Amino acid sequence: MGNFERIVISCMDRRLSEYLDSKYNDGRTVFLRNAGANIGTLSKSIEGIIGSGGISSVVIAPHTDCGAMGLVSSALSGSAKVSESIERNLVARFRKISYSDRNELERIVNPALQERGLSNLVKRPDIGTAVELIDLSRMQIPKDDGKHLLTFTKPSPTRYSSFISKYGNSGIGMFNSYFIQASAARDVSADIEIATAALHISDVRLVSENQLQNAGINEDMNYIKGMSHFSGFSISEITA
Ligand SMILES: [Zn+2]
Repeated sequence: MGNFERIVISCMDRRLSEYLDSKYNDGRTVFLRNAGANIGTLSKSIEGIIGSGGISSVVIAPHTDCGAMGLVSSALSGSAKVSESIERNLVARFRKISYSDRNELERIVNPALQERGLSNLVKRPDIGTAVELIDLSRMQIPKDDGKHLLTFTKPSPTRYSSFISKYGNSGIGMFNSYFIQASAARDVSADIEIATAALHISDVRLVSENQLQNAGINEDMNYIKGMSHFSGFSISEITA
């Protein structure tokens, strides 16, 4: 770390990767992703990257038709029961806010909540912050073929197309993989739980990049393996 100028924080949703590559990947941007572009479980990752120096801007990029916001909405209305961890790490901070519908939750409430969370976390006048709501209804997304997986990797400047190419001839394309990117798996356990237990993803791949392997990838592997017992997924490791 230390060579980056910008942090982009977005959702793990598989439909965002191509757009994030084209809009934000300039080689000097490091990407962080979780369920809902939620500052809460990424706070340690954000602080770590900012602490290493060079960052001048942070962009929060949540999106429409977000599964995490669907889960929040269902939890708040009482139609879905979420675990204590998901409640504490994602749902709780929405409980004090009134909103009229899912559209308002995604387009107004979540972006504002995450922006406030970021400004409370990053008290640095020299670092600019911005929010872009990604409107999926304006994008060309291929028809869903249902073959989904979750990739966990560290905060990285690598293009998603490059990660995808590491999967070999497995038929996994740009729109198949959800991405969780954080400094440590244990920080984003609620997000991993949302992907595996709520979205029913059974194939989890941990991709380690050589340049970043000093940051505890074995600990991440063991941690995620430990989670697989209750969420019912398999995990494999890919070294880039
Ligand atoms: Zn989402």
